[in-house]
Amino acid sequence: DSTSKVDKQRFSAQLRDLQNSKKASPSARAMQSFREKLPAYRVKDDFLKAVAANQVLVISGETGCGKTTQLPQFILEEEIENLRGADCSIICTQPRRISAISVAARIASERGENLGETVGYQIRLEAKRSAQTRLLFCTTGVLLRRLVQEPDLSGVSHLLVDEIHERGMNEDFLIIILRDLLPQRPDLRLILMSATINADLFSKYFGNAPIIHIPGFTFPVAELFLEDVLEKTRYKINSEFDDYRGSSRRRRQQSTKSDPLTEIFEDVDIDSQYKSYSTSTRQSLEAWSGTQLDLGLVESTIEHICRHEGDGAILVFLTGWDEISKLLDKIKENNFLGNSSKFLVLPLHGSMPTVNQREIFDRPPSNMRKIVLATNIAESSITIDDVVYVIDCGKAKETSYDALNKLACLLPSWISKASAHQRRGRAGRVQPGVCYRLYPKVIHDAMPQYQLPEILRTPLQELCLNIKSLQLGAVASFLAKALQPPDPLAVKNAIELLKTIGVLDDMEELTPLGRHLCTLPLDPNIGKMLLMGCIFQCLGPALTIAAALAHRDPFVLPINRKEEADAAKRSFADDSYSDHIALLKAFEAWKDAKRSGRDRAFCWQNFLSPITLQMMDDMRNQFIDLLSDIGFVNKARGLKDYNHYGNDLEMVCAVLCAGLYPNVIQCKRRGKRTAFYSKEVGKVDIHPSSVNAGVHEFPLPYMVYSEKVKTASIYIRDSTNISDYALLLFGGALIPSKTGDGIEMLGGYLHFSAPKSVIQLIQRLRGELDKLLQR
Ligand code: ADP
Ligand code: MG
Repeated sequence: DSTSKVDKQRFSAQLRDLQNSKKASPSARAMQSFREKLPAYRVKDDFLKAVAANQVLVISGETGCGKTTQLPQFILEEEIENLRGADCSIICTQPRRISAISVAARIASERGENLGETVGYQIRLEAKRSAQTRLLFCTTGVLLRRLVQEPDLSGVSHLLVDEIHERGMNEDFLIIILRDLLPQRPDLRLILMSATINADLFSKYFGNAPIIHIPGFTFPVAELFLEDVLEKTRYKINSEFDDYRGSSRRRRQQSTKSDPLTEIFEDVDIDSQYKSYSTSTRQSLEAWSGTQLDLGLVESTIEHICRHEGDGAILVFLTGWDEISKLLDKIKENNFLGNSSKFLVLPLHGSMPTVNQREIFDRPPSNMRKIVLATNIAESSITIDDVVYVIDCGKAKETSYDALNKLACLLPSWISKASAHQRRGRAGRVQPGVCYRLYPKVIHDAMPQYQLPEILRTPLQELCLNIKSLQLGAVASFLAKALQPPDPLAVKNAIELLKTIGVLDDMEELTPLGRHLCTLPLDPNIGKMLLMGCIFQCLGPALTIAAALAHRDPFVLPINRKEEADAAKRSFADDSYSDHIALLKAFEAWKDAKRSGRDRAFCWQNFLSPITLQMMDDMRNQFIDLLSDIGFVNKARGLKDYNHYGNDLEMVCAVLCAGLYPNVIQCKRRGKRTAFYSKEVGKVDIHPSSVNAGVHEFPLPYMVYSEKVKTASIYIRDSTNISDYALLLFGGALIPSKTGDGIEMLGGYLHFSAPKSVIQLIQRLRGELDKLLQR
């Protein structure tokens, strides 16, 4: 014991010497003067005193004031300086992978070190850390998984939970656990960091924990709304839509819940609002439907800034990868402003593997204008200092969950006033800026003050699974302790679903399958599909389809060449009656084309997105790593061993069924046509983009699907025609049917009558299957 004490002292001394020597380097000195100018620097002493005196602390400060890069660093320096380095282990959580990496890299360079020395990061499947690492940035998900092995976080001295104002599900979940843990860990320090929104809420949740506010400074940012932008750019909004009133009526019919914006928009007297504008602007505004972003408008706003405004980077907020890549293409295609070498156009998106730090953060070469196309990731977690112009589309992709109809969707929706304020602020870091909002003032006025927390608007099955794997007791009573507890119906649905797919047993405890799925940081359905793919030796197809489900499908739907695109997709589907097989075949053909260097032309001819296909390929590799971590795949043996039946489409469809269940509908012949029925909502339709749309006769009686969405009617997105045997073997648990002549599937998805011997055989096969999962 005494030798270990001596070792520790020696290690602490080493850390201090190292810190002091690195600090003296010229580059670290230059960084030091940058750091001292940040608003966070001014609260350094107060902050450190408060950390010493309080178990929980809430910090609020304007984005960019130095919370993330400075506060954990202050603690680190202080601990090392006072020879407590050996015992110190600081963790700072980030909601997104990309910010965990970028912040860790920044701090390492501020300290004159390499990444992975005293400062490191860990995200799913990727880490840069060492025995020397004292400050670790990780995603909130990584910390949640660490809690499985280390429920009291005994190895952690300081925990900083960042970006809590975003109210992400993982963060809301984590703080429930932490509040329960704190009394057992009186030495643990918890610091919650938030933008200047709602800090009180968190302080109250932790028994009135003290709040430190970091006063910030930003330059004023002028604000233009759509009406002004149209005047300036003389752009005429693309009016695929008829007049404004017609489209807004249609929108109202389509929307699932009543949309307050639609209603307010209906009430606006357009003429009196806009009579000060020219006729063409007024026409454009009236044609503006508000359902889809007009990328031409974004482009001409960029063009306007480049032609008429001064220097400074442009930051464009878009809703997702889709819009970012379209705009990238458009800018390239149009040989923007006649000279593309004058522009540095950079995408910034959460699912990008890494950010190119230098390009994003550094000033561009002189005479070049930096244009960053970003999602809401640039709203608060990543700060680009030299932004002077913000173009804001006003939307972000948001999941929503309709517990009554068990419908989940991920759709662009209006951001909150708080987010709009954040986005605008990004333009005033170094000088006064301008924010171009591509939506009318009426929309802005109607935006909700804050966004609904994620826990209240997403399906809860992954969360429930986490609660179970962390052994936090009964799900419902645990979630009742949340900052804003979710709808009990949503909780009940999630538990029911987990029982239906065999992850929880009747007692709400994890089954062997459930225990495997807990270790996979994936949606339980996708995880199950992968495990079944391993067991039934069609892992290749399972990986591909799971990647498309977890990310997105690779088919693009150009509006003006829709028929050709449909035909291309159908040719991949061949006679499989399956969108999933179509994307599988398309992916495999792309891999072949890539091997012979023809992939670009191939994508172009077949209406496929090369970026999505590449992303899917990367995800497949990530999935393989995950499966090898839990011992389902031995990477050394290669994938061949797990793919003997990869070409057997019947087998692949069965595995699909295992993964997608209980997303099942029944195909019923009605005269010359087929009608489709779902257990929850009755009659449904096949989405027009599906290869199964317009087909009147199907060879098999059931269909599994990835998603059901409600617009004008309830549509089934991607679907695959499957047999009743696939459902019997790979669907939900079987019970003797009430009528006594056969079996039925738990939840009433299927009734199957057959002779006793056949039913016994099926039950035995199911028993064998369960055994396979119990390893
Ligand atoms: P906050 O967390 O309060 O939003 P940060 O600590 O992230 O603020 O950032 C503080 C300052 O450091 C900002 O001005 C930002 O531009 C700068 N900064 C952060 N990361 C980087 C980086 N990777 N490269 C260059 N500057 C950075
Ligand atoms: Mg931050």
